[in-house]
Amino acid sequence: MRIDILTLFPEILEGALQASLLGKALEKGLLDVAVTNIRDFTIDRHRSVDDAPYGGGAGMVMTCEPVADAVESLRDVNSLERVILLSPRGRTLTQAVARELARAPDLVLLCARYEGVDERISQALCTDEISIGDYVLSGGELPALVVVEAVSRMLPGVVGDWESVETDSFYDGILGPPQYTRPPEFRGMEVPEVLRNGNHAAIARWRRKEALRATRVRRPDLLTYASDDDQILLKEIELEEAEQKRENIP
Ligand code: SAH
Repeated sequence: MRIDILTLFPEILEGALQASLLGKALEKGLLDVAVTNIRDFTIDRHRSVDDAPYGGGAGMVMTCEPVADAVESLRDVNSLERVILLSPRGRTLTQAVARELARAPDLVLLCARYEGVDERISQALCTDEISIGDYVLSGGELPALVVVEAVSRMLPGVVGDWESVETDSFYDGILGPPQYTRPPEFRGMEVPEVLRNGNHAAIARWRRKEALRATRVRRPDLLTYASDDDQILLKEIELEEAEQKRENIP
C-alpha cells in the first residue's frame, strides 16, 4: 500500500514515521509513505499558502492553487482514487473505517492548517473527509499519523502476531480484555489464576468474558450484537453482579 501525505509541516511527520512498528513496516516495504511539502508548489516570491477569508472574520484560509498542484503532482505515483482531507467536519475515524481504508491500494492524506482549505479543494479534489474526533487541533498532521497508524495495523505483516490484532479493542466491535505481565504479585494484587495455569480454552473464555464485562460497564453503546456464546458469558456476568450487590447489602 502507498500513502502520500500532503502537508506544510513535513517535520512533524518524520520522526513518527521512523519509530517502532510503523518504522519497521516502512523498512520492510509492507507500506510506503511519501511526504510532500505543499509549499514547494507555490509560485509567488513569498511562497504564500494562505489568504484572508472571503466574508471577513478571524484566521486565514489555505489557497487553492498550491494544494491543487500538490495533489495533482502525485498523478504518476498515486491513483488519486482516495484523496482524504483531514477535517473536524469529516466522518469519524473508527476501526471499521481503518479496515476499509486498508483495502485500498493507495491513499492521499491532505493535512490542512490555519482555518482549513478552501471549500472548492474539498469539492473538486477530495473524495472523503475524515475526522479523528470531536475536538479541534491546529493542523491535520497528527490526524494523518493517526490514520496511517490505524490503517497500517490492518495490513498483513505489520503487527507480527495477527492474533494480537484480533483481540485488540474494537477489532470485533468490543473493548479488549485486561492484560498482565510479570511479576505474579504487585503491591498485593495478584494476576488472575486462570492466566497462569496454561489452559488455553479457559484463558480464551476468561479473556472474552472480561472484554465483555469491560464493554458492558464502559461502553454499553458498543454491545449491539452478541453471539450465542457471548450471551452465555453476559448472563454469567449479570448473575455475578447481582450476587455482588446482594453481598454488599449489610
Ligand atoms: N476551521 C476549522 C478548523 C480548522 S483546524 C473548522 O472549524 O472545522 C485546522 C486543520 O487541522 C483542519 O483543517 C484539519 O486539517 C486539521 N484538524 C483539526 N482538528 C481535526 C480533527 N479532529 N480531525 C481531523 N483533522 C483535524
